[in-house]
Amino acid sequence: MMELNMYINGEWVHARSGKTREVLNPATGEVIALAAEGDVEDARDAIQTARQAFDSGIWSELPAAERGRYLLAIADKLEQQSEEIVRLETLDNGKPLRESAFDVADAVACFRYYAGIVTKPDGQTYHVSDPMQTLVVREPVGVCGLIVPWNYPLLMAVWKIAPALAAGNTIVFKPSEVTPVTAQKLFAIIDEVGIPKGVANMVMGAGPTVGNEIAESHLVDKVSFTGGTVTGRSIMRAAAGNIKKISLELGGKSPNIVFADADFETAVDYALFGIFANQGEVCSAGSRLLLEDSIYDRFVARLVERTKKIRIGSGDDPATEMGPLVSQAHMEKVLRYIELGKEEGATLLCGGNRITENGLDKGYFVEPTIFTDVTPEMRIVQDEIFGPVLVIQRFSDEAEAIRMANDTPYGLAGGVFTQDGAKALRVIKKLRAGITWINCFNPTYNEAPWGGYKQSGIGRALGTYGYEEYTEVKQININLQVQPTGWFEE
Ligand code: NDP
Repeated sequence: MMELNMYINGEWVHARSGKTREVLNPATGEVIALAAEGDVEDARDAIQTARQAFDSGIWSELPAAERGRYLLAIADKLEQQSEEIVRLETLDNGKPLRESAFDVADAVACFRYYAGIVTKPDGQTYHVSDPMQTLVVREPVGVCGLIVPWNYPLLMAVWKIAPALAAGNTIVFKPSEVTPVTAQKLFAIIDEVGIPKGVANMVMGAGPTVGNEIAESHLVDKVSFTGGTVTGRSIMRAAAGNIKKISLELGGKSPNIVFADADFETAVDYALFGIFANQGEVCSAGSRLLLEDSIYDRFVARLVERTKKIRIGSGDDPATEMGPLVSQAHMEKVLRYIELGKEEGATLLCGGNRITENGLDKGYFVEPTIFTDVTPEMRIVQDEIFGPVLVIQRFSDEAEAIRMANDTPYGLAGGVFTQDGAKALRVIKKLRAGITWINCFNPTYNEAPWGGYKQSGIGRALGTYGYEEYTEVKQININLQVQPTGWFEE
C-alpha cells in the first residue's frame, strides 16, 4: 500500500491532523494508497512557505537558463521513470495504458518546452518622446496556487507547474483528492533535482477546504484552476478578496460538425475519438455531434456499429480501449444524466448501462452511450456530462450548424469536417470557442494556446500565452537626459 504525503518546504509531511484518505483503483474499487488529508492549516503552512521563498528571491533571481536547467532535469527523470509513472496513472485514474503513456510523454515535452522558453527574447522597447526610452519587461507574478482535476492528473499538473516555475514563481499545488498518486512521483523528482526548498509545495485535501484556502489567501498572488465551471465560479469569488490574477480552464459541451462532403470514414473515426477517448472525461470532448441531414442515417449507423466494438476493460490490460470512470460518485453522476436523457424524451441508440459482466462489477465501467432525437434545451444537450455520452443533433445548412454549435453556455472547443476549405474556415471563424479543429478532433500541442470563450474559462494554458499567464508586465521609463522638468516654477 502506497503512503502519500504532502511536500512542504522541501519536506514530506503528514496532515497536521494525522488524517488520511483512501485512494481507490477505479477498475476494481480496491484501496491502492493512503493519502494525507490536509486541511486549512496545512494549506496555510504551504502558502506561508511559498511566500517566504518567493520574497527571498531564491528562485526568481536565478538566471533564467538555470531555472531552465532544473526543468530539463525534471523532464529527464520523468522520462527515465515513465514506465512506472504510466502504470501508476492507469492504476489511479483508470485510463488505458496507451493514454497514460501519451500523457507522460506529453508532460516530459511540456517541461522541455518551457525550459526553452525562458531563454528566448522577451519584452518590448518603445521610443516614446525624447529623451525618454521605455522598456517593457515580464516578471513572475509571485506565489501561484495551482489546482487541478482528476482526468489528466499528471498532465494537468505539468501544464501549470512547468510554466509557473519557468517564469520564476513559487507554487502551492493541489492535486485532486481522487488522483494524487502521480503528482507524488512528480514532487519526488522535483525534490531529487534539488529545486530550492519552499519553491514548489504540494498540499492534499478536499477542494472546499484546502482548495478554497489557496483561492482565498491574501498571500497568494495568482490562482490557476482546471475543473468544473461551478467550482471555477466559486474560485473566482474566493479570489476576489485580494484581486488575485486568475486563470480558469473549465468545462465544455463542444460541437463536432460534420458536413455531407466530409471524408466519411475519417469523420466517423474522429467522432468516436472525440467523445470516447479517455472515457469522455475530457474538457474538450466532442460531446455534441452535429450531422448534416443527407448523411445523418448512414453516419449514425456506422458510428453505432463502431461504438459497439470498443473494447472496455481494466486500463492495465494492453487490449483495453476504454477504461472505467474515475470514481463511483462520478459514475453515478454520468448514469443519472443517462436516466435524465431518457426522461427528457431523447432516444437511447446504444449503451446506457453500467457494465458488471466479465469481472468488471467492482469497477466503475459505463457503456459508450449515444442519444439521438434531442432538442436544444435538453439538459443532456446543454450540460457537461464528462463521460462517454454523445448526443447527436441534425442540421440542414451551414447557418443552422453554426447556430446550433454556439447554443450552449460553453465555448471551449469545436471541430468541422468538410472537404471544402473555404467552408471549413468560414464555420470555424463563427465558432465562439478557443480551440478548434478542421478534419480532426482533440489533438493538443504544447506550442498552442489552450482555453475557452464564454463560460469555459479565462486565460490560456500552454504556448507563450500560457507562459505569460504566470508573469506580470512592467513598464520601465528611462530618462536619458537627467534634468528637472521645470513644470513648477522655483
Ligand atoms: P472540480 O472542478 O470540483 O474539481 C477540480 C479540482 O478543484 C479538484 O482538485 C478539487 O478538489 C478542487 N476543488 C473543488 N472544490 C473547490 C473549491 N471550492 N475551491 C477550490 N478548489 C476546489 O471537479 P469534480 O471532481 O467535482 O467534477 C465535477 C464536474 O466538473 C465534472 O463532472 C465535470 O463536468 C467537471 N470537470 C471538468 C474538468 C475539466 O477539465 N474541464 C475536470 C474535472 C471535472 P477535490 O476534488 O480534491 O476535492
